[in-house]
Amino acid sequence: MLCEAMEAARPVLGTGKVADYIPALAAVDPNAFGMALATVDGDVHGVGDWEQPFSIQSISKLFTLALGLARGGDLWKRVGREPSGNPFNSLVQLETEQGIPRNPFINAGAIVVTDRLQTLTGDAFGAVRDFLRAESGNALLDADPAVAESEALHGHRNAALAHFIASYGNLDNPVETVLQHYYAHCSIAASCRDLSLAGRFLARHGLRADGSRLLSSSDAKRVNAVMLTCGTYDAAGEFAYRVGLPGKSGVGGGVLAVMPGRGALCAWSPALDQAGNSLAAVGALDAFVTATGWSVF
Ligand code: GLN
Repeated sequence: MLCEAMEAARPVLGTGKVADYIPALAAVDPNAFGMALATVDGDVHGVGDWEQPFSIQSISKLFTLALGLARGGDLWKRVGREPSGNPFNSLVQLETEQGIPRNPFINAGAIVVTDRLQTLTGDAFGAVRDFLRAESGNALLDADPAVAESEALHGHRNAALAHFIASYGNLDNPVETVLQHYYAHCSIAASCRDLSLAGRFLARHGLRADGSRLLSSSDAKRVNAVMLTCGTYDAAGEFAYRVGLPGKSGVGGGVLAVMPGRGALCAWSPALDQAGNSLAAVGALDAFVTATGWSVF
């Protein structure tokens, strides 16, 4: 079934545009494609370049949110749960909404969540990296320092967002610290295999690979719901229509989707549509779900 999904995505493979806001991402082969399925009971299957690491970018926002929520507190007072209808790096809503970002999956929201995780752990990036290592079993998984450095060098919009949020008193840590951890977790390199395994806790209603609980089943449901409505930015409606699963994308071309009770799917191909979602990855997920009927609807 994964092979058929890959074939179904072939017509759009390489169409669209590879993220080029930093040189380290622009160098990726637009025709690369991988897809992996990790089932709730521990099997993992893949096709294409499924073991090749890529820049996870905004997929990291899913893990910062889960880890930030896992320790309780008042995160939802500091970030909303509504789709923004705007590009992921937009500044426009922040002023009218007084420094409370619309949701945790746009950059502004992820900056607030990173701040919360930094307060909780003292090392927001390390917390995300260690979680991904533990769930994937890949002890070598790490940030790509060249990508992180490039993110910081070209990070004017993110710095603007963070300072603006801080001006409303919605950051507890220094802006520079929060940005450094935000860039670092965005620049983690991981494969479809790693990410499908790491996303499995959401298919297991909050249970980690070792059987311990990260989130209550109610919080796992909530994270999945926010992914469905906000995880693919201002294309979340289209993604829900086509794929019918909670999904989180990143400008590295990866998309992680959750099939509650069944498993997690990750597809990757670097060329993006206008909203910043991979055309071939979304196409393959659409084909897989359409063939199996494994949507939440
Ligand atoms: N690091 C990217 C940014 O902050 C992440 C964006 C994304 O993947 N949508 O702009």
